[in-house]
Amino acid sequence: MSAVIPIAADHGCADLPVLRERGQREVFCGLTGIIWLHRKIQDAFFLVVGSRTCAHLIQSAAGVMIFAEPRFATAIIDERDLAGIADANDELDRVVRRLLERRPDIRLLFLVGSCPSEVIKLDLSRAAQRLSREFLPNVRVLNYSGSGIETTFTQGEDACLAALAPQLPAAGANDPASLLVVGCLPDVVEDQFARLFAAIGVPRVQFFPPRSSRALPPVGPNTHVLLAQPFLGDTARALEQRGARRIAAPFPFGVEGTTAWLKAAADLFGIAATDFERATQPARERAQLSLQRHRETLQGKRIFFFPDSQLEIPLARFLARELGMQLTEVGTPYLHREHLRQELAWLPAQTALSEGQDVDKQLDRCRSLAPDLVVCGLGLANPLESEGLTTKWAIELVFSPVHGYEQAADLAGLFARPLKRRAMLTREAVCS
Ligand code: SF4
Repeated sequence: MSAVIPIAADHGCADLPVLRERGQREVFCGLTGIIWLHRKIQDAFFLVVGSRTCAHLIQSAAGVMIFAEPRFATAIIDERDLAGIADANDELDRVVRRLLERRPDIRLLFLVGSCPSEVIKLDLSRAAQRLSREFLPNVRVLNYSGSGIETTFTQGEDACLAALAPQLPAAGANDPASLLVVGCLPDVVEDQFARLFAAIGVPRVQFFPPRSSRALPPVGPNTHVLLAQPFLGDTARALEQRGARRIAAPFPFGVEGTTAWLKAAADLFGIAATDFERATQPARERAQLSLQRHRETLQGKRIFFFPDSQLEIPLARFLARELGMQLTEVGTPYLHREHLRQELAWLPAQTALSEGQDVDKQLDRCRSLAPDLVVCGLGLANPLESEGLTTKWAIELVFSPVHGYEQAADLAGLFARPLKRRAMLTREAVCS
């Protein structure tokens, strides 16, 4: 059996120059993360302390939940509450008491801050401490901010997990080494990774966030953190403060990223290359084969990324290296150079990178480059489509299962579909 793992050589540069822009931006706020977080931690509840706009945002983004007993809600702070902060605190306590009385299944309650000025005046961390004291040991109350002033949409997850990290039980210095996979993954993807790690021979693998707040993974000096998402800077720092160490790795998107990500953990636990090869080969070959059908559509096509999710750099790397797409500009809301070191080294040389946004200037650059595909937020997609550009909603990339070998083709398909749709419309227009 061959022991060659198909990881291509670096041809980019981890020190690529970056265009930094600070202007008007078009991105969802961190409240959006509640949509996938509430599905993951099944005994948690997210109480947004906000305005009617916040309530509307999460209700419409998670519309399907109106048929079930939801695990999120908004405590609307209105003008009546402005009469006095003390009243607003009383009001919040009353809402929480009523909620916990009605929903005894809630074990972890997040108070999620937002950006209206009346909410900013409320000290939610004190409110969380006060309410935690009242409801312990049955319910733990934590807080974080999803405010659009401080966060873009994936930073909501980072803020939530960073708030949860100090609550993890402590692992001791004499405990055996363990692997902690960090970042919200759909259960089906988490199960696939758990099976792969078991087949490779990596011991003591846990996932954070867990599916239940009663199963918080322990963390300590022998915990090795493997980030599954590129937007978890604060969470990684909070875990490092607990003694954990981060494993440097690219992110598990596409065949190459997934292989290198798994391999980084396998190497740390001293797994032999041949064992790694044997355990990953079937899934890797299946994924490589399944990518072929999308390569035909994507090869040579030019793509432009607006900054939305912080997934842009790993995704651009996957599209350029495994599917032959050309990167015109790769925008990211925030560039964490350390966490993205391997990803940057894998980008084609001279990739145009930008960080932050000045939306009008970036729109001008996009129009003049006239890419085949633009990845952007909902607010930009319709105007750009009406100008004849083909777009992909960035938010879909966060809502869909896209990590790992089994999802590599689905991930490529998310980019191929709008191009196929555009080709079909153009054909129909020519024929009619
Ligand atoms: Fe809008 Fe701010 Fe509420 Fe987000 S947190 S929905 S940006 S008001």
